[in-house]
Amino acid sequence: MNFRKKLIAGNWKMNKSGAEAADLVADLVAPLASQTEVDVLICPPFTALETVSRKLEGSSIKLGAQNMHAELSGAYTGEISAPMLRDLFVTYVILGHSERRQLFGETDAVVNTKVLAALKNELRPILCVGETLAEREAGDTLRVVQTQVEAGLAGVYAEHAASVTIAYEPVWAIGTGKVATAEQAQEVHAFIRSLLVTRFDDTIARKIRLLYGGSMKPANAPELLTQQDIDGGLIGGASLEARSFLELIEAAA
Ligand code: PGA
Repeated sequence: MNFRKKLIAGNWKMNKSGAEAADLVADLVAPLASQTEVDVLICPPFTALETVSRKLEGSSIKLGAQNMHAELSGAYTGEISAPMLRDLFVTYVILGHSERRQLFGETDAVVNTKVLAALKNELRPILCVGETLAEREAGDTLRVVQTQVEAGLAGVYAEHAASVTIAYEPVWAIGTGKVATAEQAQEVHAFIRSLLVTRFDDTIARKIRLLYGGSMKPANAPELLTQQDIDGGLIGGASLEARSFLELIEAAA
């Protein structure tokens, strides 16, 4: 039995001014007003969080951030902390996205400190993992994913584990139009689920949502979202436009 409600999460990355963000949210709120089958999350850039947060008042759409610093405050120029996000009614935070790992040098250890800090501050982390094309071609996919999952979750207590979401995002599929096949994705998702059984237990492993990310679009979503261990999507490009994002939510319902 699947206890997991699907989650469709939009990762807007470094896109949308405040005004553009407000327009997009307005186009989502009304059509989703009576939608209860799927959890919907949007993760705007920091600069649009306050505007979006206001627009989401009274809506069931959840608000997420794309990153945060592990410390609560202090001399960390350019960084944003968990309490600052909570102030804006943010409830989720994407951590360890492959762009953060590749372009900003975030290691597994850094990502782990952020996961722990998020949980401690009552934010739900979305831990991103995934292999590069070279790693897949070398047959290293599962080893890479195992390392990232185990390191990312180090020190997470069992009672907090159900607040964690894991996003499997093969790096070669992000923003490239090359989507993993449903079989490729399900294989890795089932593997992650088995790691969670070992790390926690069967009951907890069955509660943790595993999202697929990487060129998910209305056309390929139905097949991906009907796989047993795929509990939703982390969507970049197709979340920037209301129509495609709404179609993805429809596909998950
Ligand atoms: P994409 O991005 O949907 O544009 O491939 C997904 C992500 O990076 O989270």
